[in-house]
Amino acid sequence: MFHAKLICSDGDCADTFEAWGTLEELEVLACDCGCTLEVLSWDEAEAGDGRAELQLVR
Ligand SMILES: [Zn+2]
Repeated sequence: MFHAKLICSDGDCADTFEAWGTLEELEVLACDCGCTLEVLSWDEAEAGDGRAELQLVR
């Protein structure tokens, strides 16, 4: 399981997110605006409940 920091690929949006999940799950996450997310950094995380989680970071 991984913990990643992601940013919206739309330069006008640029919301940043933190997410927990497998790499496959992290790759298919999308921003609320509909654009894909780019991974800024990631590291290994403790296994949680096995569910991908996405949190908007303000
Ligand atoms: Zn966005």
